Amino acid sequence: MDLRTEQRPDAETSRKPQDGGGTQECAVEDGSVKQPNERLAYLFEQAMETLHRYEPPEGYYLAFSGGKDSIVAYDLLNRSGCRFDAHMNLTSVDPPELLAYVKQYYPDVLRHRPEMTMFQLIEKRCFLPTARSRYCCAVLKERGGSNRIVVTGIRKAESHRRSKRQMLETSKTDKTKRMIHIIIDWKDKDVWQYIRTLNITYCSLYDEGFKRIGCIGCPMISSNLRCKQFQRWPRHKIAYRNTIAKALKQKASNYFGTDADLYLDWWLSNMSIKAFFGAREQTDIFQEEEQ
Ligand code: SF4
Repeated sequence: MDLRTEQRPDAETSRKPQDGGGTQECAVEDGSVKQPNERLAYLFEQAMETLHRYEPPEGYYLAFSGGKDSIVAYDLLNRSGCRFDAHMNLTSVDPPELLAYVKQYYPDVLRHRPEMTMFQLIEKRCFLPTARSRYCCAVLKERGGSNRIVVTGIRKAESHRRSKRQMLETSKTDKTKRMIHIIIDWKDKDVWQYIRTLNITYCSLYDEGFKRIGCIGCPMISSNLRCKQFQRWPRHKIAYRNTIAKALKQKASNYFGTDADLYLDWWLSNMSIKAFFGAREQTDIFQEEEQ
């Protein structure tokens, strides 16, 4: 493996890696057991082989987010010598620190503004996006890459849903888009070890305890993480609250009427509406008994 170290200047929005992949033995996909460095070398070689095998004449389209997985995908493409152009779909609810980091360290990444912001979209749909109805992704995130081979940093280890993904796929929403999830089998520690070994500068938000970095308020992440996000970026919470208040004035909810605060409480709980009201009822009973 080429372990060339690329130094980038330090900044508020970025940190040199502290965390590593540990020293334990790890299994690789052929069933053999290798030391971490050997495993990383194996994963690296696999990635190189795949990128060289499928390289299209026009080059790859890299779907870039600025998170740890996509900076590894970027680095792999860079080292492979394959042609590629990198694209970041801005969502209007990206953490400001992430945007500053990408601007500083990845100036070549093409940043695409959405036609509509998250808040305009919510106003139009009159409800907040949920895990079951994440209408925002199709409009804000999954744009671009038609008729191209798209490289991503999606990994099986990220979630149960993603554990079913394969390295080579055709996009479900755009059949002209072929996807290579180049680090699909990498574990978290592989990613961090790669970043540490190659001294790649990463976004400082990871050092604040954010294990994943993405849209502020994303309904696909845990309730705890969303609350942590809103503590960190309180103005975004206010913006979501005010937007849903506006939307409820246009069209009252069957469950929440025009009560935006109640709606927001439910939204942040990640519960079903039934479970949310059940939990509230119980809290009310306990409060009455205490009085
Ligand atoms: S908030 Fe979540 S679901 Fe919506 S666009 Fe962002 S990542 Fe996709």
